[in-house]
Amino acid sequence: MEAMTIRRKIRSYLEAMPHTPKACVQSFGCQLNFCDGEKYKGVLQDLGYQLTDIPEEADVILLNACAVRAHAESRIWGRIGSLKPIWEKNPNVIIGLCGCMAEEQEVRTLLRKSYPFVKLVLGSGAMESLPDHLLALFEGESHREAVEFGRLPDESLPTVRDSRFQASVPVMYGCNNFCTYCIVPYVRGRERSRTPNAIEAEVRELVASGYKEILLLGQNVNSYGKDLSEPMDFPDLLRRLDTIPGEYVIRFMSSHPKDATRELIDVMLASNHIEWHLHLPVQSGSNRVLQEMNRPYTIEQYLNLIAYARKQAPLFSFSSDLIVGFPTETEEDFQKTLDLIETVRYDNLYTFIYSPRPGTKAAALPQISTPETISERMQRLLAKQRELTEAYNARFLGKTCKVLVERQNEAGLLFGKNREGLHVELTGDAALIGKMVAVRIDGVKNWALQGTLESE
Ligand code: SF4
Repeated sequence: MEAMTIRRKIRSYLEAMPHTPKACVQSFGCQLNFCDGEKYKGVLQDLGYQLTDIPEEADVILLNACAVRAHAESRIWGRIGSLKPIWEKNPNVIIGLCGCMAEEQEVRTLLRKSYPFVKLVLGSGAMESLPDHLLALFEGESHREAVEFGRLPDESLPTVRDSRFQASVPVMYGCNNFCTYCIVPYVRGRERSRTPNAIEAEVRELVASGYKEILLLGQNVNSYGKDLSEPMDFPDLLRRLDTIPGEYVIRFMSSHPKDATRELIDVMLASNHIEWHLHLPVQSGSNRVLQEMNRPYTIEQYLNLIAYARKQAPLFSFSSDLIVGFPTETEEDFQKTLDLIETVRYDNLYTFIYSPRPGTKAAALPQISTPETISERMQRLLAKQRELTEAYNARFLGKTCKVLVERQNEAGLLFGKNREGLHVELTGDAALIGKMVAVRIDGVKNWALQGTLESE
């Protein structure tokens, strides 16, 4: 059936409802999943639903869930269970699970068996077929499932942005790397890049509509473009986007160290809009553990790139992800991780205790450390990072930074990020939210900078 016909039929079902039809989309997990959530909202709004954050008042509830962490996934099961009373009160409600969690065969089997009130299961590659399945449910089917692996989403899907000044723009989907602890390549498929024209058009439109922060997303943005019919690389894409006139900052994540190059650093440093911050997930400071993780780079190569950036721009900032307690990690390996953070001096670290992800190679490895040892290592890592970050961030003292103000807390303090991606706290009016302001840095508190507003 044609898309227009499906839409018309759904609208007539919605118009026949005795109340305003509402839809609630709740996203979990990574930024890419939140970005998909904005598209689900766009499609539902386009069909005629009013969006709501309250599941109890919705006619369609979509949980857009992530499969990456086993822990997070188990919380989603609790969330799904908590929706059952809504269905018991209103059997017409359409409850759906989407996102990469829906790509897992075992998840779909369990839903069919034990969660009959979940009527719709939609993998992240099947997003554009949402209207199709809604119509089938309206027409009396009791359950719909769709999983399409390895496709690019339709460029024409509408989007409802969660923010009026920060926007996420996926540049590629999927991953080819098969790190031994990670499920992403199995649930998101192989790498496929959007065309540079589509990305540029989206960024131009966002900047023209007043968006101040554009976050380019991909599981490994540094391998962007390899699959295009006219191959181009990520630095080329950045160069092209940087020519778009306006006042905005381009951030991006994630970068795999094996694909991050000096050219990337050169483009960032020469640009007008690209942040001077690279999130470069290293995962471990030990070459032996990196090999077991199937992360094909060495700590020496990693440090070389950091030294190259820092030599040219001492303020340039780095952040990273680190896994503590990989199954074969020894005390000696962990010590290398501590040495690494001491050498690099990250501005921010995202630390995770290893948790086995069923279906991955690492999940079959025997854990050689006790939970107590792993937790004690994590405490040592955090303590070390706290001590290093505060001292290192003092390099900003006395400097003036351009800060995009993002939010205000209940005490009236404003929070934003500078071009180097560091969190900045300042006092000021809520009217500054969404604006770029000049801030003089006069203090450092843990991982955040404290500043005073100079001018708008
Ligand atoms: S690069 Fe590794 S950790 Fe990142 S998504 Fe791909 S497989 Fe997972």
